Amino acid sequence: MNVREFLFSPAINFVKISEHTDKLIKKCCSGNRVIDLLLHFPSSIVNRTADINNFQDKEKLTLVVKVLRHAAPAGRSAPYKIYVAAGEDELQLVYFNYNAYYLRKTFPVDGVFCVSGDARRTIGGIQIAHPDVVTQPSYAQYHVGTEAIYPLTTGLQNKTLSYVISTLVKSMPTIPEHIPEDILKKYSLMNFSDAISAIHHPKNMSDIITMTPARKRIAIDELLANQIRLRQIRKAMEEHASGIVTENGRLTGKLKLPFKLTPDQINCLADIRHDLASAKPMNRLIQGDVGSGKTIVAFVSMLIIIENGFQAVLLAPTEILAMQHYTTMKNLANDLGINIGIMLGSNRRIRAKQIENLKNNTTQLLIGTHAVLEDNIEFSHLGLVVIDEQHRFGVMQRARVIKKCHYTNVLAMSATPIPRTLLLGCYGDLDVSTIKTKPAGRKPIETSVIGVSKIKDLVTRLKEIDSQIYWVCPVIEESEELTDVTTRCEYLNGVFSAQEVKILHGKMKPKEKDDIINSFKRGEFKVLVSTTVIEVGVDIPNANVMVIEHAERFGLSQLHQLRGRVGRGTDSSYCILLYHNPVSKVGRERLNLMRETTDGFLLSEEDLKLRGAGDILGKEQSGFNSLRFSEFTDNSQLIEIAEEITNTMDLHSEDTAFLCDMFNRIENDTGVIV
Ligand code: ADP
Ligand code: MG
Repeated sequence: MNVREFLFSPAINFVKISEHTDKLIKKCCSGNRVIDLLLHFPSSIVNRTADINNFQDKEKLTLVVKVLRHAAPAGRSAPYKIYVAAGEDELQLVYFNYNAYYLRKTFPVDGVFCVSGDARRTIGGIQIAHPDVVTQPSYAQYHVGTEAIYPLTTGLQNKTLSYVISTLVKSMPTIPEHIPEDILKKYSLMNFSDAISAIHHPKNMSDIITMTPARKRIAIDELLANQIRLRQIRKAMEEHASGIVTENGRLTGKLKLPFKLTPDQINCLADIRHDLASAKPMNRLIQGDVGSGKTIVAFVSMLIIIENGFQAVLLAPTEILAMQHYTTMKNLANDLGINIGIMLGSNRRIRAKQIENLKNNTTQLLIGTHAVLEDNIEFSHLGLVVIDEQHRFGVMQRARVIKKCHYTNVLAMSATPIPRTLLLGCYGDLDVSTIKTKPAGRKPIETSVIGVSKIKDLVTRLKEIDSQIYWVCPVIEESEELTDVTTRCEYLNGVFSAQEVKILHGKMKPKEKDDIINSFKRGEFKVLVSTTVIEVGVDIPNANVMVIEHAERFGLSQLHQLRGRVGRGTDSSYCILLYHNPVSKVGRERLNLMRETTDGFLLSEEDLKLRGAGDILGKEQSGFNSLRFSEFTDNSQLIEIAEEITNTMDLHSEDTAFLCDMFNRIENDTGVIV
């Protein structure tokens, strides 16, 4: 087997793991190929020492111990203690919330074990509380030194993932270099294989949070893969003819808008008309802050396409958003007599009919999620693809969409402003139109930062106001450190009446989600307790209050997106950032920034600066899905290097295909963390 085959094969072929673990790994690492695991980098470290006389704070102590006796706890809240001997020393293993039966079984008297965990010196001797390693004595040697801690997913333990990754790193053959020798020298770049190996063997925390030579090398590769894809897209589109499309008014002439377009919306449409009237495919991005009114621009563009006999498709990153667009567009198109369809991942029963309708041109406008990209979906006359919330898809996916749609016109939309330094790396191939001003009459959103200890006062005030309320929690199910939607909903139920509080999360069926959102839209209940499934695009003008719980754990871009759900009507609106202690320094900075500004551009520049601090929930918070390794510092310099290297590379060689494949991960089909 050659090296590249090895990298692109499933890891399960080389490491003994169960299918269940394989599934968890796939979820955790956005793929289960060897390369996906090799590119899953540690996010922290622990140090373990065997030196009982000199261990430091924050270090774990690894010892081989012999069990002496068990001590029943003195009171209900007292811990269970197991006295053990380590050579000459006697110490205690300490357990809170213990299961005595289990502990007696695990640690029989006279048994000998290797244990490792957080240790502290007390008057009664050294204690190790809840050792995280309990294993055979002969394994002790493996539990000293620095250990990499990886980002995990529920059910997957660091021990397991770390074992799989280290096995793969060990058996990794030398990977042939794909960057020319002279360039490696010129920028003193590390060799690819060495870089991977170094990253998985961090020596201290700075190896994790700074741009080490190893991380720089991978960042460059990632940017290179991106640049190559962008150039491939641009080139392919230039070589295709999309045909000339001009507005004839058959549909647009009949459209009755409930408002007057803003000057920026009109300018955007002028750019789009100009692109469509050229024989080359349009490849344009509309950048406009949350709430600036991008949807209507997309809708008018689609009508121009449809009145010329073509089909148009609108891709949205979440089912909720797709359904919302469907409703909005159906309303707008009421008197126009066009057929609008919706395709979601989950409604398979009607799929055959939908496919038929697309093939015979009955469906003129299709709205959907990733489901639209499946192989068996074909259009007869596709003339325009609109990609909403483009930053949720990434460059690789855009490349796939464009290819799948035979290089027809593409309109991407994004509310996440791309910092100047990232523009080239993300959208180097696109023409850009910007919507700067929001529709008239909007009042600024007032943002406040409140500790969760004041939650009672907060809900009392919320009870009095007339507006509907979003209440966002980071997780669905109960977890140790985060408040979940269910718990919060129960609490709020005790304050408001039960009919006034409803739950929404990503694991619900599309129909349930749809019903809840629509009922909320109709004003039928007051508080929507939701996960971040409502993060992008959701548009309900009557909801003017957004409470974000655990705000200290979200990234700036995400907070800005969430806040963008309110302030869509003409009433005053409020965003309440509810934090739970402890809040890290960076977390505090983020909250202050949110309070001080509503400028999306500023926030996304700051987001980039504060990134890499490692305390943000989830792993893809920045919104630039395609960039994982190169986003966490100002990387304009790296992009320049990547540009230069791209110039020396053949866009269609084996090396470039290899590079792009490495960074081409599977995508999460909802695009959201739930
Ligand atoms: P986004 O740019 O975040 O996708 P939307 O397209 O969802 O924003 O628009 C936000 C809200 O503003 C919607 O309720 C929409 O109907 C409304 N809107 C859009 N354009 C205008 C306009 N020119 N005047 C008044 N309201 C508008
Ligand atoms: Mg939108």
